[in-house]
Amino acid sequence: MTRQYQSRKRILVTGGAGFVGSHLIDRLIGQGHDVLCADNLFTGSRQNLEHLRHNPQFEFMRHDVTLPLMVQVDEIYNLACPASPVHYQHDPIQTTKTSVYGAINMLDLAVRMRCKILQASTSEVYGDPAVHPQVETYWGNVNPIGPRACYDEGKRVAETLFFDYHRQSGARIKVARIFNTYGPRMHPRDGRVVSNFVVQALRGESITLFGTGLQTRSFCYVDDLVEGLVKLMESADEFTGPVNLGNPNEFTMRELADAVLRQTGSKSERVFMPLPADDPKQRKPDISLAQEVLGWTPTIELDQGLGETIAYFRSVVDA
Ligand code: NAD
Ligand code: UDP
Repeated sequence: MTRQYQSRKRILVTGGAGFVGSHLIDRLIGQGHDVLCADNLFTGSRQNLEHLRHNPQFEFMRHDVTLPLMVQVDEIYNLACPASPVHYQHDPIQTTKTSVYGAINMLDLAVRMRCKILQASTSEVYGDPAVHPQVETYWGNVNPIGPRACYDEGKRVAETLFFDYHRQSGARIKVARIFNTYGPRMHPRDGRVVSNFVVQALRGESITLFGTGLQTRSFCYVDDLVEGLVKLMESADEFTGPVNLGNPNEFTMRELADAVLRQTGSKSERVFMPLPADDPKQRKPDISLAQEVLGWTPTIELDQGLGETIAYFRSVVDA
């Protein structure tokens, strides 16, 4: 799509070499905008953006968001942060710095540019939730000193910073609380449950169910999430969020394993392994707010999304 100069924006996507960010960039480029991706390549990869290498609308910058950034942009999506428990617990101090310093640096830039900034927050702000399904007004149940705290509390402080910059400095903020999202371009060794199960099934390795496998998650296909993020960014300035973005259909990890085995036709065994500390027992978004204000509802159900995801992993994983 070619855009007129006036409506063509220059958009910064931090964390754009990652799973969600690379799909978001494809969408923004497809809409005719110019995109600057800033990423330190901790969990992301150039491979996710290889198809854009010669596209004049796209620019990659190796940059760590814990450092200030001075660039001319019209909008900012702040996605930089490892999202898989395995990766965010690898260097927990760096994870907290990424969320907190990253938020400060990107908010400073947004205030200077007087541009909108969207924060990729997370359902982890609800911790191991005592309210089900989770509504935005629920304040959460997070262990502040456990192994997940670097991510959960980092993201909570980032939300605090977004709202304080909004109140104190007039920052034009948007906060999305993203629930478990999956799809092509997840890294085969990402460590999150969907990619783990699919890769294990394709390789004929054991499917690793943590705990009883009866804990629940609600899985959103990445195209649906990207649609929600763009709609949120395009919403009126008065709407700051936080707003839940996720698919409200809830599954146990056993049900997910069954679906993966069925669709891959794999004969992998299921093995049960210890449940990681503070692993939330249940998770399901209440998306009434997103439906009402953004007119957004996910449209891709697990069977369809898993089909796309399995097809992708078949092309990148050795059986
Ligand atoms: P991902 O790990 O694939 O992508 C994160 C990207 O951020 C990577 O490219 C990584 O290299 C980059 N990054 C990490 N630290 C950085 C730093 N200090 N400076 C610059 N870049 C840095 O994860 P994802 O699933 O694409 O998640 C993207 C965002 O969405 C994250 O902020 C995550 O917390 C949020 N989110 C994702 C999910 C999900 O299920 N995918 C759920 C909730 C929230
Ligand atoms: N999980 C699992 N096997 C795996 C990886 C994860 O059973 O190989 C479980 C994990 O314990 C959690 C759920 O799947 O209950 C989702 O885990 P993930 O790491 O994908 O995301 P999060 O816990 O952050 O929602």
